[in-house]
Amino acid sequence: MSTHHTSSRPTLPVAGEDHARLTIDLSALADNWRAMARRSGAARTAAVLKADAYGIGLEAAAKTFHHAGARDFFVATPAEGAALRGVLPDVRIYVLSGMWAGSERLFFEFDLVPVIVSEEQLVVFMAAIADGGELPCVLHVDTGMNRLGLRVEDAMALASDTSRPASFAPLMLLSHLACGDDPSHPLNRQQLQRFRSVVTAFDDIDATLANSAGIFLGEDYHFTLTRPGIALYGGAAVNDVPNPMKPVVTAEARILQVREAKAGETVSYGASQVFTRDTRIAVVALGYADGYMRSLSGSGVPLRKANIPGASGVLHGRTVPLIGRVTMDLTHFDVTDLPAGSVRAGDFIEVFGRHMPIQDVALAGGTIDYELLTSLGRRYERRYEAVKK
Ligand SMILES: *Cc1c(COP(=O)(O)O)cnc(C)c1O
Repeated sequence: MSTHHTSSRPTLPVAGEDHARLTIDLSALADNWRAMARRSGAARTAAVLKADAYGIGLEAAAKTFHHAGARDFFVATPAEGAALRGVLPDVRIYVLSGMWAGSERLFFEFDLVPVIVSEEQLVVFMAAIADGGELPCVLHVDTGMNRLGLRVEDAMALASDTSRPASFAPLMLLSHLACGDDPSHPLNRQQLQRFRSVVTAFDDIDATLANSAGIFLGEDYHFTLTRPGIALYGGAAVNDVPNPMKPVVTAEARILQVREAKAGETVSYGASQVFTRDTRIAVVALGYADGYMRSLSGSGVPLRKANIPGASGVLHGRTVPLIGRVTMDLTHFDVTDLPAGSVRAGDFIEVFGRHMPIQDVALAGGTIDYELLTSLGRRYERRYEAVKK
């Protein structure tokens, strides 16, 4: 293989050259959307694509969901909406952060539907349609999360306000569940009842309440449109039950060096882990700069004192524990229990994905799969496995 370069411009790594890779299974992504659509029953099923489609890549995710049948898409910001419009010209795109003064142009230009989140935004929106002409909107009503949304009383008042201009015709009401991942939490029913009362006050209007977890709460929560995010990407929407979704993202990194350490020696910063036996260490090219968080460390960070074990990887079908502290670009795993000679520099170790559930890894770091996915960073080689025909 030739390694010389004919120009001075650096050559970017291609398949097989990089230190870490993400394999993104688009068939699983499509299957997960269909599974959510089936569970949504008579309701339409959207797809939530905020934060670069939860870190997996906006364009590939958008095309996959569209091909599977999705026609409604949610993003967080107008800039994300504009990017999505470049990929999907004919779908409805809702912007969850709504419209603020100065962002109006983007909504008209890219045909984005603002989700109005406050009385102030309502004023901005009314001025925008008085100026710029017709534009649909969605009204976000806060039913118990205290994050975004009009208060229930204000939404009710708006429903019966006959002075509002005829051009102001909200498409849909939206609310968001605070505790959907805990099906027995009483706030779920309370939010449902508050939301129903607002939906009833508006005559004949579409409504959306359920995120991924809300879909699992059952038909009462589905209304006209459901809004799954994390479940599409293979995450665990509901706590303490087996996750029925297919894993979408597999993260792997290369072993750079295999080394032997003696009992009594230590590993990584802070010398926080002291070996109680002779130990074979795989030094892996992945660290917190890749979103493999320091809190996943096997020892030496405060979380460990709460008796949360560190993360593990999977190598040649065996689970191997993380040892010592995760560093910026490098992490250590204990491979002593694998057959001698079976672990070599250049081998890939899976840190989450098909063999190591992402939610378990997130838990080991004191966080959730959403944060792990959206923190992955830019250093991975990304491989998209096409939808099987
Ligand atoms: C992120 C988000 C969703 C999707 O939530 P998941 O838990 O990922 O399914 C739905 N609705 C709103 C308002 C959101 O912010």
